[in-house]
Order: sequence, then C-alpha cells, then structure tokens
Amino acid sequence: MKEGLYTEEHQIFRDAFRRFVAKEITPHVPQWEADRAVPREVWLKMGEMGFLCPWLPEEYGGLGLGFEYSVIINEELIRGDGFGVGVPLHSDVVTPYIHSYGSSEIKEKWLPGCATGEVITAIGFTEPNTGSDLAAIRTKAVRKGDSYLLDGQKTFITNGFFADLMVVAVKTDPHAGYKGISLVLVDTDAPGFSRGRKLEKMGYHMQDTAELFFENCQVPSAHLLGEEGAGFKYMMEKLQQERLEVCIKCQVNAEEALQEAINYAKVREAFGRRIGDHQYIAFKLAEMATEVELGRTFLDRLIEEHIRGNEIVQRVSMAKYWLGEMVNRVAYQAVQIHGGYGYMEEYRICRIYRDVRSLSIFAGTSEIMKLIISRNLGLKA
Ligand SMILES: Cc1cc2nc3c(=O)[nH]c(=O)nc-3n(C[C@H](O)[C@H](O)[C@H](O)COP(=O)(O)OP(=O)(O)OC[C@H]3O[C@@H](n4cnc5c(N)ncnc54)[C@H](O)[C@@H]3O)c2cc1C
Repeated sequence: MKEGLYTEEHQIFRDAFRRFVAKEITPHVPQWEADRAVPREVWLKMGEMGFLCPWLPEEYGGLGLGFEYSVIINEELIRGDGFGVGVPLHSDVVTPYIHSYGSSEIKEKWLPGCATGEVITAIGFTEPNTGSDLAAIRTKAVRKGDSYLLDGQKTFITNGFFADLMVVAVKTDPHAGYKGISLVLVDTDAPGFSRGRKLEKMGYHMQDTAELFFENCQVPSAHLLGEEGAGFKYMMEKLQQERLEVCIKCQVNAEEALQEAINYAKVREAFGRRIGDHQYIAFKLAEMATEVELGRTFLDRLIEEHIRGNEIVQRVSMAKYWLGEMVNRVAYQAVQIHGGYGYMEEYRICRIYRDVRSLSIFAGTSEIMKLIISRNLGLKA
C-alpha cells in the first residue's frame, strides 16, 4: 500500500526533511529536553523550508500539498527524536480549524504567519475540571459590543507557552450543554490573557505544555470561528485528522522502540550468547514485530482513506485506542530487553518509554475511544 501512496516526489521531500531533521533537530534534543522547550528559530527555519502547514493553499503561504506530506513530516520528526516538537499539532490540527472556519479576514491575517513559523498555534479544550467530557467545560465567553469577554482556565495545553494564537473552546451559552460550545481565536497579546507554569511532565519534556488563564479577556467578536454554538460540531469534524495524527505518533514510536530492542538484542550477551538468541527474547521480539506490522497495515489503510476523503471516525477511534496501547506494550518490552541500560537516560529507549505514555491519554483516552466504538456498535456505554 505504501508504494501506492507515495511517489518519487514524496521520497524526495522525505529525504530533504530527513536531512533537515538530522542537522537542525536531532543533535539539539538533549538540550531542548533539559530546557523544556524547542526554540522559536527552529519553527522559523521549518517555515522557510516549507515544512510548516505544507497543505495550506499558496494564497496563504503554503505549498498546496496533500496530507501525505504532513504524514512524512510527522514520521520523520519522530524518527529523528523530535517527538516533542509541536509542529504536527500546529500544522495538521490547529491551523485546519482556522482555515475551515475562519472568515476571509482572519485567514488573510493569520494563516501566512502559520506557514512561516512567525505564528505558533495551540488548541485549548481541556480544563482543570474536565478533559474527556468536553460538554462540561466552564470557560465562558460573553458578548459585549464587538467583543467577547472570556473567563476561565485551560490546562495541559501543548505549545501553550510559546503560542501566539490559540483556538479556544468556550461556552457562549452555559445552559445549552454541548450546543452552547463555541470556538474563538485568542491572540495571546489579548488583554486579560495570561499563562501559568510550564508544566513538569513524566515525559515529552521538550514540549512546552502550559496552563492558560482568561480573566475578562477581550477578544474581537470577529475572532469567532464559524457560528456560535457550533463549536462541538466543528471539533467532531476535525477529530478524525487529529486522532490520525496521534496514531502516526504511536506507530512510528512503536517501530523505533522495536528497532532499538532488536539492535540491542543482537549485541548484548548473557550466558555465553546474544540475548536475542535466547528463545524467550527471540519470541518476545517476534511478538512485538507482529504487533508493529499489524499497526502499520491498519494505519496506512486509514491514511489512504483519509486522503481520499472517506469518513473513518469509527476505525480511527479503534486505531487510536489500539495503537496507543500497542506502543506502550512494545516500549515496555523494549526497555525490559535492555535490562538496566533501558532505565538509563543515555539510552534512547528510556526517553521513548517515557514519551509514549501520553499517547493513550491525549486527543481522547483509550476509554473514550472504546466509548465511541461501542456507541457506534449500537450500545449505550
Ligand atoms: C502531554 C499532554 C498534552 C496535552 N495537550 C493538550 C492540548 O494541546 N489541548 C487540550 O485541550 N488538551 C490537551 N491535553 C489534555 C488531554 O486531552 C486530556 O488529558 C484527556 O482528554 C483526558 O482528560 P482528563 O485529563 O481531564 O481526564 P478525565 O477526563 O478526568 O479522565 C480520567 C480517567 O477517567 C476515564 N474516563 C472518563 N470518562 C469516562 C467514561 N465515560 N467511561 C470510562 N472511563 C472514563 C478516562 O479515560 C481517564 O482514564 C493534553 C494532555 C497531555 C497529557
């Protein structure tokens, strides 16, 4: 299937981006992990090379390319240890909201900066009291003249510390449940907006995940995306691509963890032979390789269907659940195969293991994926 999806042009693009990652990202990862941040200059360099929002139409500064190019960028970032670079979220999750639901003035004002890297974006849905149950968000937006006044708090926001622009879910009608949710664009220079701590996390260390505060935060009413009360519908429309983007992260991390384990099993010796030649470890690797292969087959099929424009919500939910759990199983076993070295920071598998723990949680937990799947089976879970 992969041969069918990717042409020689894709391969040239992949090679160019791989070289970029090897030079501009991989060597700096330890420092960025320690800094808990990726410098803005990296975003600007990526923008200059056309690696941000490559799908955006040329009129907004993009290259008008297909989703395959976003897949390549996501895959190569992870292979080059840039899992925590928040570019796929910016390019393939947040910016599409602005492109799909923003007015032409909004698009002209903000999208070119999204493509150059001068505008870094984030998405603010989760609040301290609620993540899975989005209908229960409390951040409210009250219309006053030509503005909305926002009050509330968001947390766990990826790119939250450096973002210049955010798509924020608010309640414009607190009594209407999910029908009272709207999406507004918040320029982080807006009066009444502030950021809290850069959150200390288990892994994903170079990612600047933050808390956000809105206190009488004034946002022009023209920053409403689409229609008032339609925010939940827009989220549902965009979740397919968001979850697919996370599925790619799961799969490539699983592939990398497996490769690390195989490499190590071929060089480490115990009881007079390579550990991989002990049948227990050889079989363990065979099981891991089978899971990884199944994941790749499923994922590539979904990517292809998504590019064709098919609705694949049910299967993307299955993939997000299964791949999110699979990558954790594979990473766990890969650490185990490394023995004590797997627990040491100087070994790549140590970071992968920490990072992938987030994958069955964000963009919808495994449990929420099972909820969606079972409801689509006609069950009332
Ligand atoms: C590293 C990281 C980055 C993130 N980035 C962002 C971001 O950029 N923007 C953003 O908006 N959010 C972001 N999030 C938040 C993330 O989407 C939420 O953490 C996630 O949706 C879960 O919400 P919660 O943490 O409130 O858990 P809860 O909703 O409180 O869930 C707690 C537990 O209960 C389970 N549960 C809840 N409801 C049910 C049910 N009905 N049936 C069975 N089990 C249930 C959950 O599966 C989970 O196991 C990020 C999170 C992390 C860890």
